[in-house]
Amino acid sequence: MIVSERRVTLKSRSQIEQMRRAGRLVADVLDRLGEALRPGITTGDLDRIAEEMIRRSGGIPSFIGVPGPRGPYRHAICVSIDDEVVHGIPGRRRIEEGHVVSIDAGAIVDGWHGDAARTFTIGRVPADVRLLVDETRRGMDAGIAAARVGSTIGDIAAAVEAVALEHGYGVLREYGGHGIGTEMHEEPFVPNYRGAGRGRRLEPGMCLAIEPMFTLGGHEVQVRDDGWTVATADGSVAAHWEHTIAILPEGPEILTVNGRDRSLLGEAGV
Ligand code: MG
Repeated sequence: MIVSERRVTLKSRSQIEQMRRAGRLVADVLDRLGEALRPGITTGDLDRIAEEMIRRSGGIPSFIGVPGPRGPYRHAICVSIDDEVVHGIPGRRRIEEGHVVSIDAGAIVDGWHGDAARTFTIGRVPADVRLLVDETRRGMDAGIAAARVGSTIGDIAAAVEAVALEHGYGVLREYGGHGIGTEMHEEPFVPNYRGAGRGRRLEPGMCLAIEPMFTLGGHEVQVRDDGWTVATADGSVAAHWEHTIAILPEGPEILTVNGRDRSLLGEAGV
């Protein structure tokens, strides 16, 4: 992806209120999937739960139909396990004890998008893996806290990256956050490392998805033969957290919350 200054849309208060509804639904879906996650369930089962819940709530699963190199994406969520970072395709794979499971979900409600991801651990995992998951979430929180009027996209990137640098984690470079609104992916690109420069200045009404992807190894990734799954090149475990936020004069507001988790630094995943 290329950092571009084009087509950044600013949302009004009433449009942000509509985006809160989409965000709330996405948060509800991720809560539900967190409850359903246990050894033996398949990633396809999780996808069916998500799609049914989104449609029953009057939403549209926004990932379905996203174009890819081998045709459009066909699922409501992405489920990425262990060394898979993002865009894992749901199917027959069964969740097992010890898995690190990143789930990304998106929904459209009345034309407005919400997009969020959480990483869950199943049962016992090594301490360094647990720390990676928690610190990737802290990287997201740091990026959100830096998303203030007058700061820049580069300030968000630097805040996210600083958390990774404390631990020597790999930070994905080709993938990052994005503007969001009536499209899932709008300008600007929001990198998770500062090498990308200062970038655009943040203004009231900008809505962004902030989504660090950290690894226990290097930053390099490869896309698997399915055309979607992004996995670490060195096989190291990865984590991914994402919130959709609105930049308001009084500070950043997280939109992908549902009242059970309104704080910047809430409970870590299961
Ligand atoms: Mg996203």
